[in-house]
Amino acid sequence: MGAELLAAVAAEVAGCTLCPLHRGRTLTVPGEGNPVSDVLLVGEGPGAREDATGRPFVGPAGQLLDELLGSVGWAREHVFIANVVKCRPPGNRDPEPDEISACRPYLDRQIALIEPKIIVALGRSAATTLLEADASIASLRGRVHRYRGVPLVVTYHPAYLLRNLPDKAKAWEDLLFARQTLRAAAVTDVPPRAGSLPL
Ligand code: URA
Ligand code: SF4
Repeated sequence: MGAELLAAVAAEVAGCTLCPLHRGRTLTVPGEGNPVSDVLLVGEGPGAREDATGRPFVGPAGQLLDELLGSVGWAREHVFIANVVKCRPPGNRDPEPDEISACRPYLDRQIALIEPKIIVALGRSAATTLLEADASIASLRGRVHRYRGVPLVVTYHPAYLLRNLPDKAKAWEDLLFARQTLRAAAVTDVPPRAGSLPL
């Protein structure tokens, strides 16, 4: 059912003209992956390859993201990957605040349907958008934030990592931290069995 409702969001996105980004797009990139994933990754917006294929993170940054996900045992098909804006900003410029606000309800609906247990914000644009805090990645990483009640951790954008390869180790640490946060939540979320003794 979640999958059908997610497909309905994607279909709405495909016809969306709510912000000026619709004019320059080839295909919308609503996001894709496991509809009941515990993990939701959120990037900034489609680049050239994504715009041409309609799929998130399929260019060079996507290859690096796949590698990072693999290094913590998260296969791409097991997670869900989305972006803050669903249409490519011209020339890969940053999305404007009004474009982000216009598009955000789609992401919020995806979050409500997927019900992830952890959100990983990839890069400054996703992090500052979701946390409504104008801060650097360096100052936001390594802590658990929340978005709409869901634990959220922040890491570098894979495109940034392609230009700053030494920071890849930090991104790997961030994903390990996300995985650890997810596991800790899974332990504490287990409801006590009937008749179990109070701790
Ligand atoms: N960069 C992003 O932020 N998202 C994509 O889907 C691809 C590149
Ligand atoms: Fe609609 Fe989002 Fe595309 Fe803007 S970026 S046209 S709000 S789908």
